[in-house]
Amino acid sequence: MKICRFLHHGKIKNGVLENEAVYLLDDSANLKTLDLNLKNSVCLKKSEVKFLPPVTPTKIVCVGRNYAEHAAELGNEIPKEPLLFLKAISSLIVDGENILLPPQSNQVEHEGELAVVIGRDCKDITPSENVFDYVLGYACLNDVTARDIQRKDVQFTRAKSFDTFCPVGAFLETEIDVSDLLITTKVNGIVKQRARTSQIIFSVPFLIRYISNQMTLKAGDIIATGTPAGVSKLSDGDVCEIEIEGIGVLRNTVSI
Ligand code: MG
Repeated sequence: MKICRFLHHGKIKNGVLENEAVYLLDDSANLKTLDLNLKNSVCLKKSEVKFLPPVTPTKIVCVGRNYAEHAAELGNEIPKEPLLFLKAISSLIVDGENILLPPQSNQVEHEGELAVVIGRDCKDITPSENVFDYVLGYACLNDVTARDIQRKDVQFTRAKSFDTFCPVGAFLETEIDVSDLLITTKVNGIVKQRARTSQIIFSVPFLIRYISNQMTLKAGDIIATGTPAGVSKLSDGDVCEIEIEGIGVLRNTVSI
């Protein structure tokens, strides 16, 4: 099932996408248990809907260097435990919105990633618990990065957090096994990154449990699971597309 958030008559609503149609959910619908009845729902055309980011996170937790070839291309060692950093919430935009190049950087790059979205609050998930009980769904995400600033600052905060630096897909896919999916990033139709999620060093269940042992994960929080090799510079007018099989395509134009 693909779920989304959008504006309807000026109000924020949740919906379900089916065959290019968006079904409006009433406010009592429980997205986590998927206790939904679409038969009586208002049906809208996808093209008529103004989509919003599919959740309102309290934080965006990112994992650095989680594909060996990407760590190598930037001259880094493979981390012994997950390398975590945060992106500002204010960097979030949705599919179709523009990535804006800030004047402070001459090297803004794409990082296509699988995003995991948390469905209910969790802290210290134990080894006996099923981490997927805490997952709402999955989306494509672009961890846009000002690479020159990342090198200069050492700390990642500024390089990762300019406004518009976190495009996310408009839909969350709630029913998919993400352990071995093809992830592709294209710029102007040319493939730049191409890998399978099975190549990540720290797996999705490992990451969710690990992060919950460092900080409380709240419903709506986003985990960006790392990018494959092939990151490259974005320029004014470029169209960047991130596709994950079974989840969808995230498409954003770059502008100054
Ligand atoms: Mg990244």
